Amino acid sequence: MIDLINRLQERHELVAEEYLALLNMTNPHDVEYLYQQARGVAQQQFGKGIFVRGLVELSNVCRNDCLYCGIRRSNRHVTRYTLTREQVIGCCETGYEIGFRTFVLQGGEWGEERTTWIANLISEIRQKWPDCAITLSLGEHPRETYALWREAGADRYLLRHETHNERLYNLLHPCEMSHAHRLQCLEWLKDLGYQVGAGIMVGSPFQTLASIVEDIQYLTRFKPQMIGIGPFIPQHDTPLGRFPAGSVELTARLYAILRLALPKALIPSTTAMASLAPDGRLRGILAGANVVMPNLSPQDSRSLYALYDNKASLGAESAQGVRKLENELGNIGYHIDWSRGDSPSHMPTCK
Ligand code: SAM
Repeated sequence: MIDLINRLQERHELVAEEYLALLNMTNPHDVEYLYQQARGVAQQQFGKGIFVRGLVELSNVCRNDCLYCGIRRSNRHVTRYTLTREQVIGCCETGYEIGFRTFVLQGGEWGEERTTWIANLISEIRQKWPDCAITLSLGEHPRETYALWREAGADRYLLRHETHNERLYNLLHPCEMSHAHRLQCLEWLKDLGYQVGAGIMVGSPFQTLASIVEDIQYLTRFKPQMIGIGPFIPQHDTPLGRFPAGSVELTARLYAILRLALPKALIPSTTAMASLAPDGRLRGILAGANVVMPNLSPQDSRSLYALYDNKASLGAESAQGVRKLENELGNIGYHIDWSRGDSPSHMPTCK
């Protein structure tokens, strides 16, 4: 195992059976060696600073019906909300004062009728805070929409591919959604000059370790600047609400493998990690993750953006709790890096 880990670190690539062996590894010394090497690589690239992004959950209105997601269209138990322009700007103002230099606008997928509204919002944020990065995570749209938002000033786009296995994709999504289209969107985003984030849920129903290997191979080919991975967590009003949650340990292991495969990638230790285990976020960082995304959304809308049960949005998971986050990171020898935190392989564009 030690040889495999060293080879992954040196050559950034293994064959499928070798990735599978790393995912199956049980010897605690081997696992610790993997984490230690991944931490070392992250520290070579980024030092001991952890980038922070202020997350604004724009809306829980969604036209899609993903079987795992709490804000899916057919979940009638959700009270729907959309933040006003003033609320979004207010969140960014608060975030900027706290020190955030990246805003992530995330939300359910709207129809194209809101495209201009979003473009105007991006332009306003870009003008008010020219030193900040704007990340979007708003789902699948036509290439022209992505181009318009990029033109308006967006720098980065997060769109998890969810799984590279088409069969699994079709088990997790309704038939009107297509695996090929999701991958096409990622290609468009890259082509338009966004820093792009792809990724998956770990432990989603019907997922196998072999399908996770396919995801690793896709990520190493596509080389996104950001990799968003978190454990699946059931939401009780969804068709998959009775399946067990994914594992923090397997997710951390995937962070470590991907850190060795893609040393420069920006890898958040995600909210789902913090939601599943009190030390989940720190375990992610100790496995090579280098980003956290505290919640900047207005307090009263946070509980409505319920992608899964018991989603963390308070304490160190909240933008207002950065001191707590700072202390937690300090306890493991890390600190917050307040810079924009662009990918080392992608220079920021001048606007
Ligand atoms: N609509 C945008 C999109 O499709 O990319 C962004 C919002 S979507 C809710 C963000 C991510 O939440 C998804 O890519 C999915 O991986 C994750 N997610 C949704 N339901 C989840 C669940 N039950 N457990 C863990 N992650 C979940």
